[in-house]
Amino acid sequence: MMKIEKVVAKFYEGLEQHKLLGRKCPECGAIEYPPRYACNTCGYHATEWVELSGKGMLHSVITPATLNADPWNDKIGPYCYGLVELEEGPMFNCTVFGIKRKQAKLLRDKLPIPVHAIFAERDGFTTVFFEVDELPK
Ligand SMILES: [Zn+2]
Repeated sequence: MMKIEKVVAKFYEGLEQHKLLGRKCPECGAIEYPPRYACNTCGYHATEWVELSGKGMLHSVITPATLNADPWNDKIGPYCYGLVELEEGPMFNCTVFGIKRKQAKLLRDKLPIPVHAIFAERDGFTTVFFEVDELPK
C-alpha cells in the first residue's frame, strides 16, 4: 500500500512541474503509464521513472453524454473523451480538449490525429489532459 502511495506522490510532483512521468522497464523497455512498479509487458518486478513527451495520437472520439459529462471541463473549453496512444507506447482513455461535440462525428473519419498533454489546476492538484494539435480540415 505504501508503495502505491509513493508512486502517486511522485507522479503528482511531476504534474506540478508540468512534466508527464511514466515508468520504464529496464528489461524490455516498455513504458508503464499511468506509472506502476512492475512491468505489465514482460512481468519484470521493477521499473524506473522516465519523463514522457506528452505527445501522442488520438484513436477514438466519444462525445460526453449526460451520464459522463464533467461540467468542470467546460471551463477549459470544448472537449470529448478518447483513446490516446503516447509516442512511447501506452494507450489509455482520457479527456481531450479542442473538439466540439458537433465536430466529433466528422473527426472519426480522420483518426488518428496528433494530440499533446496540457496541464490544469483542479481542486488544488495539477491534472493532465490532452488537446488536439490541430483539427484536420
Ligand atoms: Zn518489461
